This record gives sequence, C-alpha cells and structure tokens, in this order.
Amino acid sequence: MKRNELAIAGFILLSLAVCSCNTSTKTTTGKEKEFLDLTAMDSSAKAGDNFFEFVNGGWIKKAVIPPTESEVGTFLDLYNSTLDHQKDILDEVSKQNNAAGSLEQKVGDFYASGMDSATIEKLGYDPVKPYLQKIEAITDVNGIMQFVAEQQTMNNNLLFGFGIGPDDKNSSMNIAGFYQGGLGLPERDYYFNTDAATKVVVAAYQTYIQKIFTLTGDDSATAAKKMQALYVLEKQFATSHKTNVQLRDPQSNYNKMSVPELDKRMPAFGWVSLMNTLGVKTDSVNVGQPAFYAKVNELLKTTPLDTWKTYLRFHVLNDAAGALSSAFVNARFDYVGKALNGQQEIKTRWKRMVSNTDNNLGDAFGQLYVKKYFTEDAKKRMLELVNNLQVAFEARINKLDWMSDGTKKIAVDKLHAFLKQIGYTDKWRDYSKVTIDKGRYFDNLISCSKNDYQYQLSKVGKPVDRTEWDMTPPTINAGYYPNFNKIVFPAGILQFPFFDPEADDAINYGGIGMVIGHEMTHGFDDQGAQYDKDGNLKNWWSTNDSLKFVAKSKQVIDLYNSFVVLDSVHINGSLTTGENMADIGGINIAYDAFKITKQGQDTTRIDGYTPDQRFFLSFAQIWRSKEKDEYARMLINVDPHSPAMYRVNGPLMNFAPFYTAFNIKEGDKMFVPADKRIKIW
Ligand SMILES: [Zn+2]
Repeated sequence: MKRNELAIAGFILLSLAVCSCNTSTKTTTGKEKEFLDLTAMDSSAKAGDNFFEFVNGGWIKKAVIPPTESEVGTFLDLYNSTLDHQKDILDEVSKQNNAAGSLEQKVGDFYASGMDSATIEKLGYDPVKPYLQKIEAITDVNGIMQFVAEQQTMNNNLLFGFGIGPDDKNSSMNIAGFYQGGLGLPERDYYFNTDAATKVVVAAYQTYIQKIFTLTGDDSATAAKKMQALYVLEKQFATSHKTNVQLRDPQSNYNKMSVPELDKRMPAFGWVSLMNTLGVKTDSVNVGQPAFYAKVNELLKTTPLDTWKTYLRFHVLNDAAGALSSAFVNARFDYVGKALNGQQEIKTRWKRMVSNTDNNLGDAFGQLYVKKYFTEDAKKRMLELVNNLQVAFEARINKLDWMSDGTKKIAVDKLHAFLKQIGYTDKWRDYSKVTIDKGRYFDNLISCSKNDYQYQLSKVGKPVDRTEWDMTPPTINAGYYPNFNKIVFPAGILQFPFFDPEADDAINYGGIGMVIGHEMTHGFDDQGAQYDKDGNLKNWWSTNDSLKFVAKSKQVIDLYNSFVVLDSVHINGSLTTGENMADIGGINIAYDAFKITKQGQDTTRIDGYTPDQRFFLSFAQIWRSKEKDEYARMLINVDPHSPAMYRVNGPLMNFAPFYTAFNIKEGDKMFVPADKRIKIW
C-alpha cells in the first residue's frame, strides 16, 4: 500500500501513513471474536457526511497520541504488537549460548550490542573519528569524491543517491543508477518556502547542524558559521532538484550515459576513479536527474574546499548519530523526531533496536520470525484471496466502457503476468561475511552495511531476479513493483485487522482485499500504466485510450486537490494521483471479488449490519488513525499517499454500492451525482 520504489531521493521518511485499531477484537473468554469495533463509531456522525468519522469518530475523540509517537491507529497498534513478537525472539536468542557465526548468534548479539547503552555512551563519537580524520586530510576535489565513494560503499548515500535495480527499458537486466540527493531537509521546497511551518522545520535543522559541530569540538560562533556555509551549499543543490511531482515522470528519470560521456559532461566528479571506488564495472549507468549532477559539478569547482569538508563532516556525523552516545541521538531526535514527526519523546531503546535488527539483518531475523509467527495456512488463504481479486479485476477490465478491445487485451495480459509473493522469500540472503560482536554496535552496523552494499553491487550488469524480496517478513506494508510486474504481501500485513483466517469474508475483503486491489491497480496507475507486462517502460496504449486515461487522471488530481487537511493545507493532487487511483480502483476490485463469495451474495446481518455494510465498515476501520500536526504537514509535502480520512472518503464518494449500502442521498456531504463520479478501473 505504500509504494516501494527504488530510492530516488536520499531521505527516508514514511513509516506508516495510516491508522490503527485498539479493537476489542480477540476476546479471550468466548469462542467468538469481534472483528468490527463498534464502540469506535460516532453515533452523532452521519455516514453520508463523513464516513471515516462515522466509523472511527468515537475512537478519534478519545484517542491520545503517546508522547513517543507521531500518530496512533490501526497500523501503529499492529506495528507495536509485531514489535513485541520480535522482541520476544530477540530476548530469547540474545540470552542463548549460540554457536559462533550462526544466524542466532548474529541476530542475538547485534541486538545485545545495540542495547548495551553503557558501552555506547562511553564511546561518545569515537567510532566516527577515523572518518573525520580522513576528511581533515582531504586536499582537493579528487579527495572529496574518493571519500564520498567510500561512504557509499558503507550504504551512506552521501552527496548523491546511488542504487542498483532493473533497467527501465531493458527490465531483465540490472543497472547502476545515480539520483539527486545531498539535502538534509526532506525535499527541495523546504529551502525556498517561507511559511511559518516551514520556518520552524528549517530552524530545527539549522540548530541540529550547529549542535553536531559543537558536540565535536567547535565553539558556538564557529559552529554557526559552518552551519551557514553548509546550508547555502545545500540550498544550491536544491535549486537543481526536481520536485516530488516532477519525479513521478519515469521517462524523464531515464538518462542512460556511458562513463566517457559522464566524464565529458561533468568532469569534476572524476568518474573513472569514482566508479572504481564504488566497484561498478559497467559501460553505462542511469543518471536519474542530470541537472543535479551538473550543479554539483559546477559547485565542486567554485565552492571552497573548507565548505565541502564542513559538509562531509556534518553528514557523516548525521548518518552515524543514531548509533552514537545520547547527546548525538537526542540532537538528531530534536530535528527528525520532534520538528518533522511531532514526537515529544524518543521511543524506548528496545523498540529502536528491534527495528534496527530488522533493518540490518532482515533475512536472518526474518527466518526466526516466520518460524514462530507465520503459517502456511495463512499463505494458502491469502493466495485464494489474491486469485479472486485477479479474476474480479479481469472482468472489470473487459467491461470498461472507455477502453478499446485492443488495449483491453494487453491490459489483461499484464494482469495475468503478475508475480504474486506472499509471506516471505524462498531464498534467504547470505550473511556469512557479516561479523557481529556483542560489544561493538557501531562496527556491527558497518559490517551489515558493507555486506548489503556488496550484495547489491554484485547485481550490476547481471540478469534481474524477479523473485527477490526487498521487504522483510514482519513488515506491515505491501507493494507493487513496476519493473518486476509483481505484487508483494509480507507476513506482517497478513494479520488482523487486515486479515484473519477466522473472520467473515466482509472483514477480509474490506481489509486485505482492499490492499490487494490497491496494489493491483498500481500496475495501472499513472506511472504503472507506462510499463508493459515485462516491466519495461514502453507504451502499450492506443493514442485514443491513452488520452481518455489522462483525462481520468486529471479528474482524480482535481478532486484530491480540493481536500483540505490542516488550516489552509490541502492535498497535493498531482503528488498523490497514483495512490488515489489505486485506492479508487482497489475498493472496486475488492468489492467485486467479495460479491463472488457466499456472504457477498447473502443478506444475513451480523452485529446489525448487512454483509455490504460490514465490508465498508472494515475498509474504514483499517485506516483508523490520528496524527500529530507536524507529522501530517510533513506527509503532505513528501508522502504520495493521501491522509487516512481521504483514503476512505475519496474512493467511497465515487462508488455506487456504497451509496446503496448506506442510503447516501443528495444533500449528504459526500454525495456526488452519478454522472460526475470518477470511474477508471
Ligand atoms: Zn500504494
């Protein structure tokens, strides 16, 4: 549901753009489980005015966002209960006597090293000092690029984004890609916007930079001067950056270049030596955003060496801050946690370290996780659901009144070619080269990063393995990958309230069914529709059908542009088009698939609600959430997903069966006349 794409920008943000539920769900006493939390509803709200509030309003009124969180809701609840499961595993393996080099030893000792706060505290920023000394010794531009390349081999996307993935126009082969990067704020517009909320974030970032310099030996006047120089440099990078909306055009992100050509166009990089240090042996690479590289090329020649060294110094410390002593951890938290995410307090150490273990040793930890918390039965039931959705989607495509038969046939072929991945990978990643020592947290992180980099690097110029996973098993998310033409559902999302093998179909189709439909639609959203069934960026549309599709996309953009989130902040319709299309398509497909089931054709009420009503209630329940304002503002700027309320109300106001199920009439706030409703897939 959150689209997982090759990292284009260097900044990592969203965790969960969504919701929660504290539901009374599984009762321990009786045999019956309650799958809908009726106490969360707002009896004073009208279904037709705001369905999201009708279903979740009672809960929203009472929900309190804990000081350590940016939001509360269904996703967070599930995330936290999954963290508890993961912690149980880690507590157990970290206390065992494991054979040296075994997965259990690596996973257990990694976690233990991260929990050893006394050692970490004592070391201060000692682990970074060798890198800072290297920066001090740099005397020219070649030295800068050499250092940057070395950091990239430790997975620090310093100065620019770098990654390996399928070639957009030859999707069976992997290619190395260079992307715009270098910023410490979430995206370019933060450097230019002058509204009050942006100013608060910029001030927090600048304070953080100064703090990092004072913590590593500068007096406050020097730190302020360095911060200014660094910020001006980043702002110049930002002038060349594409906006998040411009980045949605895959054609313009495809610029294959040979190394000699790069050297001719941007000689300051010293590409031959850069590629050598990166370990990339290939004739050509993709440069996602050439304007950024041209700008850096210019700045390498015009910006004083000292400013560059200041820049490197801060970003190496910034990358490491979370693994250093509490002064560094807290400085970073004041910026990222408080100013960007709206958290008041940092999450407890064990939660951070469980996530870090998952991030760094995902496939090792994941093996222990699925053994304990995933069943083949769940996988089987899920595959049935996915297959039913695929059948429903095919029928919808064949019935479309705006698409020609020729294009329909190709669309159906693409749908049939989907690879479906459920639960976890068949081929676990190898960690034999990773060394983990209980007393050396920082070195453990470096060892994992280097291993991951070498793994990615080994793919350059080789055929693409379509079955490879990039989400770890406990991840509560799902994805569609255009180059692989595949949909992926990790074990983490196959839990209540998305999915429960014992729930009635209305619950599962309104929950995980909607998620499946959403991911399938991504294969046909404004971006996905530009890729063919083999994952190549290649037009398969007739001109006329393509024009109609673009006009429909425009309707989606206009509708979501009209939704106001906070004071004067509204959704960016262009940034969120793909996700909104997937939400609108997803509910259609999930509903059609539900109608194939026995319950879908029945009228028996449960808890006083018809099967159709339960389907919609389940859908609105999975998106239950409440966010801190700071967090909501940041998401509006960077997240391609709409806020939860509009992920529910937007699709439903365009969906006829919802009108019937809840008797929505003219005069209700969600009412849209039948001929004005958006119908795409
Ligand atoms: Zn999505």
